Amino acid sequence: MSISDNIIKFKKKISSKVKLIAVSKTKSIIEIKEAYDSNHKLFGENKVQEMTEKWKVLPKDIEWHMIGHLQKNKVKYIAPYVSLIHSVDSIRLLNEINKQAKKNNRIINCLIQVNISEEKSKFGLQINNLPDFFNQIIENSYESIEIIGLMGMASFTENEEKIFNEFTSLKEVFINLKGKFPRFSELSIGMSSDYKIALKQGSTMIRIGSKIFGYRN
Ligand SMILES: *Cc1c(COP(=O)(O)O)cnc(C)c1O
Repeated sequence: MSISDNIIKFKKKISSKVKLIAVSKTKSIIEIKEAYDSNHKLFGENKVQEMTEKWKVLPKDIEWHMIGHLQKNKVKYIAPYVSLIHSVDSIRLLNEINKQAKKNNRIINCLIQVNISEEKSKFGLQINNLPDFFNQIIENSYESIEIIGLMGMASFTENEEKIFNEFTSLKEVFINLKGKFPRFSELSIGMSSDYKIALKQGSTMIRIGSKIFGYRN
């Protein structure tokens, strides 16, 4: 199966309301161009420098999604063009995104990353800390940021029930927050190995890498 076949297959499988983010990290310009030529415009990357290099040379109607951990001092490189930052997990980072968005005369859309797995290596806020975090967001009333939802990664396990429970906990938080935040609309859950479970739990964005581009080295 080619990259474009994989994309077409995915789009047939998922509801038209769900956005497919093609995760192109480590993949070449030629491979991304093949996906683009099958009329795909949403791509996800996890490194600032790599994403920016690709943005520079690829068509400007691509929407670039930052899905990896983002350092404050690198926000300035993506602020001119990034479409959605999935990985916001601190107020300091939000302050910097707000500042850089303003400089670029843009509103930058963000998701708050929540740590729903027990794995220590994963980034994101603990569910317990979300009420305080969102109170602070309301207090800070960012002019140049729109918080439009949540992102989470389930544990890397074959235990589907565990994955299901982790996505369920995030979905519940998402529904609660929807009441307070009028623009809350996106729940970014699901990767190549667990997207089917995520779709059952109301995912609005699945982030698919290896099932589109093949395995990464
Ligand atoms: C790499 C990555 C993905 C895609 O992973 P696959 O298993 O290749 O689909 C999704 N989300 C994040 C945050 C990633 O870093």
